[in-house]
Amino acid sequence: MGGFFGVVSKEDCVADLFFGTDYHSHLGTMRGGMAVLSDKGFQRAIHDISNSQFRTKFENDFKRFEGKAGIGVISDNEDQPLIISSHLGVYTITTVGVVTNVAPLVKELYATHAAQFSEMSRGGINPTELVATLINSQPSLAEGVRYAQQKIEGSCSLLLLTEEGELYAVRDRYGRTPVIIGQKEGAIAATMESCCFPNLGYEVEHELGPGEMVHCTPDGVETVLTPGDQMAICSFLWVYFGYPASGYEGRNVEMARYRCGGALARRNPVEADSVGGVPDSGVAHALGYAVEAGIRYARPFVKYTPTWPRSFMPPDQKARELIAQMKLIPIPGLIQGKRLIFCDDSIVRGTQLRDQVKRLYDDGAKEIHMRIACPPLLYQCRFLNFSRSKSEMDLATRRTIREIEGDDADIATYRDADGKPYQEMVGRIRQRLGLYSLAYQRLDDLVEAIGLPREQLCTYCWTGEDISKPNGCTHGCSHCPSPCAATAGTVV
Ligand code: SF4
Repeated sequence: MGGFFGVVSKEDCVADLFFGTDYHSHLGTMRGGMAVLSDKGFQRAIHDISNSQFRTKFENDFKRFEGKAGIGVISDNEDQPLIISSHLGVYTITTVGVVTNVAPLVKELYATHAAQFSEMSRGGINPTELVATLINSQPSLAEGVRYAQQKIEGSCSLLLLTEEGELYAVRDRYGRTPVIIGQKEGAIAATMESCCFPNLGYEVEHELGPGEMVHCTPDGVETVLTPGDQMAICSFLWVYFGYPASGYEGRNVEMARYRCGGALARRNPVEADSVGGVPDSGVAHALGYAVEAGIRYARPFVKYTPTWPRSFMPPDQKARELIAQMKLIPIPGLIQGKRLIFCDDSIVRGTQLRDQVKRLYDDGAKEIHMRIACPPLLYQCRFLNFSRSKSEMDLATRRTIREIEGDDADIATYRDADGKPYQEMVGRIRQRLGLYSLAYQRLDDLVEAIGLPREQLCTYCWTGEDISKPNGCTHGCSHCPSPCAATAGTVV
């Protein structure tokens, strides 16, 4: 998914930038980057962080950098921040989100005979450079940002720092990702994770609305583009992505997870000896479950945190499986002969969970009951870099539905938690995972646990409904939302 942090200050800001960016390390695994504006211009460093943490990789840069303004990023894919020279001036830019219509946008830009791309990402176009090119195609930064937001399918929040030391923060068009402004004496910061603020001395000044663009100087914040009235913030931030100490739209992550666990306990009670969470994000859900159910919380397996701090995994499936096995260490006394409830944030493919369940039975568990903090994932996210999977058919639900009905199934019929298709799908997943019982969160309970109105949340990965695609359309047509051909049964 990725995350960013930016700061403008009256004093040197490199320490704030270094630690503020580092507090986004749970959001990405591939690249880290920092760009700082000094008297001599921009200094920049980009490192591969796939095998080492951001702080380790940037330690030397931290010592040599100096300046009063900077932006930093933890990225799942491309190299960034980029330094761009254009008719809008020299600036450095970083983005978070996913652009799903790169090919048609590039084609359109090439047709102007005035666009070229030099930054490649995994053999393709670097999406951040594409966003910068869209911005540069317009007369001003604000018009460029508005234009880019309209053209991009997916989502794109960004930070842009000019050579004059002016920081711009932009939240994506529908607010799928949060962008939060903080302030302290003589400095303004922009972040995706508010958990970075307390230790750096910032207080939340305001949260950007969907599509909002603000201009930040050390003296204050001014809105350049006003927010739109439709928001679809990612619900998965509270379920999995977000850091527990963070809050978005005023709703803290950890507390929402307690409420998720509590709702699971009320809906799906079962007798057991202990409740545990699959580390890391299942832990808070499990604490909420344990309190509500009055069953003691225990950790039948613990994560070896000193060297496996992160939950995202390398692209190779075999390497992921090996890591999943190595990072969790069982405690036999808490497993043998016990009836265990586990809470996890979600089931994507289910392969790691199946292996973990098998290990627990091999270690002597009597019963294993799984409680999942969100509804079954039926659709692949189109707005954030949610997983490495290329196909919706990798989802445990989709494979199960194919098994039940073949390729022509109406997926929407599997959304109703009280319906027969849903029950059959969940029953088969339970069997495949070797569980005594399996229950998923209901969508209304999840929405209540988050605490925002349903219409302000993105729930696409469970419902296929998206505010940028009207009428419940789940097609991925490149022209949407202009007149829809889906009614004629045509996907274009
Ligand atoms: S589809 Fe799911 S993961 Fe993607 S933005 Fe929406 S809620 Fe978040």
